[in-house]
Amino acid sequence: MKISYCFLCELFPIALFFSPSYYKISKYLLSDTYFDICNKKTKEIQGLLLSATLKNALINVPFYKKNVKINPKSIDSDTAYSFLLEFPFISKETVMENVNKFISTKADKRFLFYLTSGGSTGTGIGLWRNYDEVLANYAFIDHMWGKYGYNRRYKTLRIGADSVAPLNKTPYKRIGKRLLVSPHHLSERLLPDIASAIQNFKPDYVHAYPSCLELLAGFLKLNDIQIRTKGVFLASEEIYPGQIDLFSEVFKSPVFFHYGAVEQVLLGYGCYNKGHINYHFHPFYGLAENFKDENGNFELVGTGFWNNTMPLIRYRTQDYGKISDEISKCDNCGLSWPTLDKLDGRLQDYLITKYGSYYPATSVSIDKFIWNYVETFQFVQNTPGEVELHIIPRPSYDDEIEKNIFEAQRTKLSCWFDSIKIVKVNEITRTCAGKRRLVVTSNEIHKKYGGRNK
Ligand SMILES: [Zn+2]
Repeated sequence: MKISYCFLCELFPIALFFSPSYYKISKYLLSDTYFDICNKKTKEIQGLLLSATLKNALINVPFYKKNVKINPKSIDSDTAYSFLLEFPFISKETVMENVNKFISTKADKRFLFYLTSGGSTGTGIGLWRNYDEVLANYAFIDHMWGKYGYNRRYKTLRIGADSVAPLNKTPYKRIGKRLLVSPHHLSERLLPDIASAIQNFKPDYVHAYPSCLELLAGFLKLNDIQIRTKGVFLASEEIYPGQIDLFSEVFKSPVFFHYGAVEQVLLGYGCYNKGHINYHFHPFYGLAENFKDENGNFELVGTGFWNNTMPLIRYRTQDYGKISDEISKCDNCGLSWPTLDKLDGRLQDYLITKYGSYYPATSVSIDKFIWNYVETFQFVQNTPGEVELHIIPRPSYDDEIEKNIFEAQRTKLSCWFDSIKIVKVNEITRTCAGKRRLVVTSNEIHKKYGGRNK
């Protein structure tokens, strides 16, 4: 069965959450020591999970059987980490070129799902998973959200792939405890009606793509409408501080977010403090490492613990950022997990500087005030070293505002880019799931440097 990951995320009703892994994980997470990776018990569990992952790969998966010469019997929970270091780093391309060799000979293909990350978000990847493995991911997400008070009995406003509706249909519909708002309908014309439906619905939680929610939140802020919720959950996209500030102001609640992907190798809890975002990696979900490339960039590498069908060991995620060398207790959230101090962005969210190097568009100076004047925005790059910021202006936008936005970009970008332009547009194309791409580049740049093209 071929299925998109984001749709799958919404497919399984709660009654089906009876899977061996789901309960195993829930049991592990009951331990009150897991939040400290240095704790003996936590280390022991991680060692067991890693050891089982490596053994399965060496015994059942053709790619690893052929390329890694380790006797699986010699691996145990104490030695697993040192054996892991003997495994090669693998790239997305290697996996896609050898898909069948990454699938366990024990797996029965009749009962597998083929999950894809949206083809619209950079280089796509497709992976085989069984039902239990899909639910394992849920166990972690449920537990994480549960920590913030959420359960499925609460009313949730949902804006994402599963709420997309054709443009000739109504922009929202209520299904059980959820109000589904279509991302493609978030236009100036329809937003007053949508906002009023949300006010009547009175959501406890919001679950949305950041780039969709910013359209709604910008409208609510501009019209001084506040919708008080218990929490906002963001997923499936890069996030930056200006968005978090905007959402917490409009929805009067904390904003929660995490790092994760269809490959299911890493789960990072988002942690936001005074304009700074970092991620703490869950020790029972996967093991995080860095791969340093020839340009000195640190790529995130993950080994997922819950994917026996198609295990990915030392998988290069194409996301960048350095994991801190030391593990210390976070002053903000109290977790003592391996921490990514700053996610430098995903390959598809990079701009190419005049020197041919990568520059993360997520670190560009965009603060929450931009939504007072701009509906949405996008970076467009046709030539390395030149960048255009495309914006859809609101009626409040004027020359003075443009000058301020331009100056903010110039201050930050002029060392790296020869030309910085602001271009007013009427429309910014969205993906079929309703996301706004942060960066689009010309075909020439895409071919040479990767990332997304137009
Ligand atoms: Zn923290």
